[in-house]
Amino acid sequence: MIKAIVTDIEGTTSSLSFVKEVLFPYAEKHLPDYVRKHANSPEVKAVGENPIEKLEQWMREDKKETALKTLQGIVWAEGYKSGELVADIYPDALAKLKEWKATGFTLYVYSSGSIAAQKLLFGNTAAGDVNNLFSGYFDTTIGGKLEADSYQKIQKQIGYAPQEILFLSDSVAELDAAKKAGWKTVWLNRYSSTAKPPHTEAKTFAEITYLAYRAMDVDTLPAYLAEHKKLAEFLGGNPKEWNIREVGDGNLNLVFIVKGTKQSLCVKQALPYVRLVGESWPLPLSRAHYEYLALVEQNKNTPELVPALYLHDAELALTVMECLSPHIILRKGLIAKTRYPNLAKHIGQFMARNLFYTSDFYLSAAEKKNKMVQFAGNTAMCKITEDLVFSEPYFNAPMNKWNSPALDKTMESLATDVPLKLAAQELKHAFLTRAEALAHGDLHSGSIMVTEKETRVIDPEFGFFAPIGFDVGMYLANLLLSYFSHSDAEYKKWLLAQVKDTWNIFAEEFSALFLARKSGDSFSLALNINKQALEKILATIWQDTLGYCGVEIIRRIVGLAHVEDLESIADAAERGTKENAAIAFARKLILGRNTIHDIASVL
Ligand code: ADP
Ligand code: MG
Repeated sequence: MIKAIVTDIEGTTSSLSFVKEVLFPYAEKHLPDYVRKHANSPEVKAVGENPIEKLEQWMREDKKETALKTLQGIVWAEGYKSGELVADIYPDALAKLKEWKATGFTLYVYSSGSIAAQKLLFGNTAAGDVNNLFSGYFDTTIGGKLEADSYQKIQKQIGYAPQEILFLSDSVAELDAAKKAGWKTVWLNRYSSTAKPPHTEAKTFAEITYLAYRAMDVDTLPAYLAEHKKLAEFLGGNPKEWNIREVGDGNLNLVFIVKGTKQSLCVKQALPYVRLVGESWPLPLSRAHYEYLALVEQNKNTPELVPALYLHDAELALTVMECLSPHIILRKGLIAKTRYPNLAKHIGQFMARNLFYTSDFYLSAAEKKNKMVQFAGNTAMCKITEDLVFSEPYFNAPMNKWNSPALDKTMESLATDVPLKLAAQELKHAFLTRAEALAHGDLHSGSIMVTEKETRVIDPEFGFFAPIGFDVGMYLANLLLSYFSHSDAEYKKWLLAQVKDTWNIFAEEFSALFLARKSGDSFSLALNINKQALEKILATIWQDTLGYCGVEIIRRIVGLAHVEDLESIADAAERGTKENAAIAFARKLILGRNTIHDIASVL
């Protein structure tokens, strides 16, 4: 784990042009005057005969003479003092250095400018004197920046193991030398380049993340939570009394339930790989950041339908939230044939409100685009959906799984069904391009926790801008998968009623929000066509819903990730009959999405 961070200055924390275009010209301009005024000072005497000519020549030839450096330092100090010079430091660098310092990293500088000049620079930034960030400074008196030996010397002096030190520089040659000494490296590549050196690359300091990351376990979590006073008080008692269980039954992350003497809370932490598969399938920790952002948005729009948020630790990819208890995962409840009187209302509202409030029907174009930017980096999670939902079920993909032999024929027909494959790809294209609203992205019955009366949606780590019908279709698909899995006619009836009620409540709620809107750049209010516009918009959402519902059903039967509703049917032949029926139905939905006009026809 990284413990110390050593940074270069020029081109890394500060612009190259500051030194070349501001500092050096300033020294050139003011040195002669200073020398004339202080001809008898020891610093000027150290230059020797004809000091002005000599200094000017050294500067022209970029000589690293100590006497020159000393005098430059004096002149710069005066410039800083008078306010004529303000040291340049990138805001992203300063913010990150402060964050790292506060997190407990030890920070050092290694730059070719003299130590005195380094201290001057960090002592006179627009943000004031920030030298308190650093525990030590190194310049070329310890050795050249292109020699591994210099880094070894620094390492011995600061007393960390080589692999505990991170070196930041804009120069690949310097990074190569540091790497030779066993250090970790990040290349600050602020200006685009096609070269791909063997160093982690970052455009700005803000991109250097997760340095403090470590996966939590039941032994390390108490001390971490105890550091956060509010959380410790919330839990009650002392850390030794807290009961911690890891309950992550999901495919990707760690989930801990922490019981204090007063209250409980839930800690969710991302792992740098897919939990279900292991380290061979890496997955970015940043998904925790997107999940948190989506939860913040949902807490704003539907606070009673999502867990409350207590803390987000970006560096640990960890979120502390409300512990839902005695809630259970909806899928388990559906398998147990439980009826939930408020479920359709809650999920209909959850979808309508979150999708409406993040769409162009409500936001201004600028607000919407800014929100899209926040989620634009969640590409790895989107790729999972793009591959697993829209493509893999329709060819012989290595990760496909199906109930063989009952579904062997179905698999063959999926791979040769050109109209179906085209339709799935049209839906994929819409998912890729039609950024209508912030979707939950994974809204299935395993992402919902319920009691008889309450409903909470969890796990929006796939959060991304997508067609509005995407979430709606995914959720209805999971109700229908449950429908196909059951044999009990009464419960099946209840599930169909859920499909109908959920759609109707979603459509009603969405319509009410749309008709009452006072903002939103799409379908301009000035044109007075709100009613007619709503009809068109709902028709599009409906078509998309049917399409996404269909592809979700198919991929949950023949793709990588299956649903327990069907998997728990022990008799493979019986399961096969049900699965084949579901797939035939899904195909009709996908191909008929333009001709099936209402929920009654679906039922
Ligand atoms: P993953 O993204 O890895 O699938 P989930 O967010 O779905 O993780 O959580 C995994 C499991 O942890 C859930 O199925 C649920 O049992 C439990 N869980 C998640 N969040 C909470 C919470 N806020 N309160 C109680 N249990 C939770
Ligand atoms: Mg998840």
